[in-house]
Amino acid sequence: MLDKEDVLQIRVPIPGRDRGLNHTLVYLVKSLDNWILIDTGLGTDEGYSFLTQSITDLGFKPDDIKNILITHGHPDHHGLSERMREWTGAQIAMHQLDAKSEFRRRNRMDVNDDTFKIWNTLYGIPIELMQKEQKAVEKHSNEDYSPWRSPVPESDILIKGNEELFGDPTIVSIWTPGHSPGHICVYDKKRKVLFSGDHVLPRITPNISMYPGDNHNPLGQYIDSLTQVEDLDVETVYPAHQGTFTGLKDRVVVMKQHHEDRMQEMTNAIKNSSDGLTAWQVASNIHWNVGTWENIGFWTRRMATTETLSHLEYMYNKNIIKKTEHNSQVIYQI
Ligand SMILES: [Zn+2]
Ligand SMILES: [Zn+2]
Repeated sequence: MLDKEDVLQIRVPIPGRDRGLNHTLVYLVKSLDNWILIDTGLGTDEGYSFLTQSITDLGFKPDDIKNILITHGHPDHHGLSERMREWTGAQIAMHQLDAKSEFRRRNRMDVNDDTFKIWNTLYGIPIELMQKEQKAVEKHSNEDYSPWRSPVPESDILIKGNEELFGDPTIVSIWTPGHSPGHICVYDKKRKVLFSGDHVLPRITPNISMYPGDNHNPLGQYIDSLTQVEDLDVETVYPAHQGTFTGLKDRVVVMKQHHEDRMQEMTNAIKNSSDGLTAWQVASNIHWNVGTWENIGFWTRRMATTETLSHLEYMYNKNIIKKTEHNSQVIYQI
């Protein structure tokens, strides 16, 4: 038996990111008489060497790890899972919704796909501009393989959420959809810690977007999921990016307020227009930390639009704003 701290944090690098999220924080947690690895990191050779070397340096043998728990299916969390399964012989467990949806989600960004085109047009995203930008991306990309679009490995154990994990009654999963449909947090009741994945981060709010094929209300789900964790008896939060923090409830209050403020800004933009606005137009009329609308580049603008859209659909579901369809476009109005 290893005589170690019960929770160990490893900062797996995300190469190519010069600012913001340049690491994924993965964790080793002692459970019964073995160890769980929570998340694996982006699927790069550099990340794999770093993670396996770090685990070895900490004094572990690969087969000390019996389970790999994935908080959600995004590539910066799940990318190394297949290689880590091979290295450890452990089983991969994740929520059933992300196990199914993430591969499709990541690979359906095909600009020439009709459904994708219709969906983008519906929310005001200029399709000709998108096709032009897509061609530019293809021309400048010599690599066929991108760790951000790699296939998702099969999961051995499908989690439904809100259940004890791997036979340990003190460690439970909490289903927290919003940032992704099958996001889970891991609550360790005995140690009073929450492994929050991307659900609650200390200094930024996770991206809550709507994607083609989504017919739900991700921001509504996300806010309900924040409520699910805010009153847990937690002393320390271990998120998947940035760093460890305390004061879970205070952080959740700030994050909820952030979304309220964004919705107020969007409502004001709609009020200031005469005939209502598309999601793209609303996004172009509000403030973005990354720069002015003219300067942030097409793909960032598109991402800003899908994030705006989740707020607009939330407000529509709450009867705060109305929407109509006109010339194959959805127009949001007060
Ligand atoms: Zn994520
Ligand atoms: Zn992430």
